[in-house]
Amino acid sequence: MKTEDFRKHAHAMVDWMADYLDNVDQYPVRSQVRPGEVAGQLPAAAPEAGEDMADIFADFQRIVVPGLTHWQHPRFFAYFPSNSSPPSVLAEMLMSTVAVNCLMWETSPAGTEMEEVVIDWLRQLTGVPEGWRGVIQDSASSATFCAILTAREQATGWRANEQGLPICPTLAVYTSDQTHSSVEKAVTMSGIGRENLRLIPSDDNFAMRVDELERRIAEDKAAGIVPACVVASVGATGVGGVDDLRAIGELCQREQMFLHVDAAWAGSAMILPEHRDLIDGLELADSFIFNPHKWLFTNFDCTAHFVREPDHLIRTLTILPEYLKTREGSVVSEFRDWGVPLGRRFRALKLWFVMRSFGAEGMREIIRNHIAWTNDLAGWIAAEPDFEITSEPVLGLLSFRYVPDGVTDADSLDDLNDRLTLAVNDDGRLYLTKTKSKDRTVIRWTIGQTRTTREHVRQSWDITKDIARGLA
Ligand code: PLP
Repeated sequence: MKTEDFRKHAHAMVDWMADYLDNVDQYPVRSQVRPGEVAGQLPAAAPEAGEDMADIFADFQRIVVPGLTHWQHPRFFAYFPSNSSPPSVLAEMLMSTVAVNCLMWETSPAGTEMEEVVIDWLRQLTGVPEGWRGVIQDSASSATFCAILTAREQATGWRANEQGLPICPTLAVYTSDQTHSSVEKAVTMSGIGRENLRLIPSDDNFAMRVDELERRIAEDKAAGIVPACVVASVGATGVGGVDDLRAIGELCQREQMFLHVDAAWAGSAMILPEHRDLIDGLELADSFIFNPHKWLFTNFDCTAHFVREPDHLIRTLTILPEYLKTREGSVVSEFRDWGVPLGRRFRALKLWFVMRSFGAEGMREIIRNHIAWTNDLAGWIAAEPDFEITSEPVLGLLSFRYVPDGVTDADSLDDLNDRLTLAVNDDGRLYLTKTKSKDRTVIRWTIGQTRTTREHVRQSWDITKDIARGLA
């Protein structure tokens, strides 16, 4: 493509992007295509001859856009949010254009040095303890994997990497029954083994039961198993369970166990000092992760991974083949040694753009609003006798159920709420997801989109009530 054509198409696409963001609320939130509908419109093999960009872009609008679920829609209340914002998109455009690989300092000093600076800005903004250092990973799943590997190395006296697991004692990892599946994945990938993952029951408030944790640790020790790591959640995926970091941290210190804290969604809200009680005791942990790509206006992918002892993470993951040795290697940070992939995107740029463009106060105001509207929504739900709140708001998440008169048995209520979720999402004006909580179907509602207003929440609640009452 010639430069003048690149310029022409780029301008046209930027116009499309701005219009899309202004009009994203005109689309059904969840894509309404049927399985196979997108693939059926694509040729089975790549074209032999190059095609015109105007045609490719037209097909993007015709084929791809209907097959999108619009995560930036202001009535997207499903899963957890996956934020974007104009400053972040602009940074992504520049990042794609310079297309550097920040695998080490020398391959783009600006990438490494900006990452060190902006991750420390984030540390200060969220109240992560002084002296901790951070790195940007691609996902919470990767960061948790790195944490579990570090815990494994510490618990085996750094022998597992060198000699392999067969010569090591059996290790155990503890987490609550509310924890995200990425922990189970990390435990399997690290070779610790699914059978050695202990799912500790949670209490009525969805927090890990520390008495049960203590009991399982003692039981394992008595059986000759080495308790290696606890993974605590702050804002677990189902209904936002928050574990008691101080109590768990004190136990981990007594038992010399690694404590990893997964706050993938809730961590962004720690920019609000009034909610830092959720991470009280964090100084007792070894690592802490959260996703600015969930709730801090930064495009996917961007996970902040903070560690108390960076040397332990680096010792676990470092590799230095001859072709990666550089003159400055010993005096600069080499983030390739802090994670799994060698190649790294320049993710710090989008955080830099976002934090400078919004300012800390600008970001706080939006998240404060999301939390306030979640409390408003809880009030509206509680005021309707045929609905019930099934978990109180945790920051920007609550869950509820439709419980009309006359439907009393538990399975019928589950079925009705399954059908309600489907009906709302087929309608397309908003998007909700469901989960099981205490073995019953509940509907989750998360408020966290960059463009959501209180009016969007109010309208969406009215739509939900109407659809529910139509079903009954
Ligand atoms: N941890 C929690 C609490 C989550 O809610 C999620 C995803 O929603 C994850 C981890 C996994 O995040 P990622 O997609 O960044 O791997």
